Amino acid sequence: MRYSAIAKKISRRLLRLRYRPIEVFVFHAVSDCFDERRNKRVDWSQREVFESHIRWLKERYEFISLEEAYSKLRRQWCRRQRYAVLTCDDGYASVLEVLPFLEREEVPVTLFVNPKYLDGVSRREGYAEAPQYITREQLWSLHRPWVTVGMHGYEHDDATTQSQQQFQESVDRCIELLTSHPSYIPYFAYTWGRYNDDTQRILEEKGIVPVLTDGEPNYRYRQGIGRKPIDSYYWKRLKFGV
Ligand SMILES: [Zn+2]
Repeated sequence: MRYSAIAKKISRRLLRLRYRPIEVFVFHAVSDCFDERRNKRVDWSQREVFESHIRWLKERYEFISLEEAYSKLRRQWCRRQRYAVLTCDDGYASVLEVLPFLEREEVPVTLFVNPKYLDGVSRREGYAEAPQYITREQLWSLHRPWVTVGMHGYEHDDATTQSQQQFQESVDRCIELLTSHPSYIPYFAYTWGRYNDDTQRILEEKGIVPVLTDGEPNYRYRQGIGRKPIDSYYWKRLKFGV
């Protein structure tokens, strides 16, 4: 093993001794039955299964909001408590059906949405009607303290294939269309977790916290907040820091 790999391993061990990891999870669509016209297998969970997974996690972690997690990750103090955070990407309307469950279980959730799709259309459908997405009206009716709203790009574009100007415009349109939401938070979840130095710099200049999907737990705040998908397709392969 090379010296740098050994040093990395040791520093990770030391980090683990000082800080318990904060696990940030992401899910997508949840419904009673799979509908191939509206869902993709990889980002769908059957509702009862999803709820049992959340209960399982609740027995092992204390769920906190994404903002609380961010502030804990920036502190120098030791962290002994096991924390988890729940996030939901893409703004599928099916999330409305699990919000009452999450509220009962006292699990805060951050919804990362694409503002363009709040108009009821999506690129996947060639901008034809796409009722699987939450509408603007539905999103604005969700001003509850345990639900926060972040950005996922104006449309569901891969940030690494956009020019700097395109990415900047996408972020600006998200800000313009979402800041009036009472529960808006300046956090940006990269689509498919893809990013580069330019996208990171643009978010930093705008004071926005990047949210990744790198499968990693979080010890201290580094270049963004790492997340793990918990849709059924991924569940069996997950490694938890408990
Ligand atoms: Zn997405």
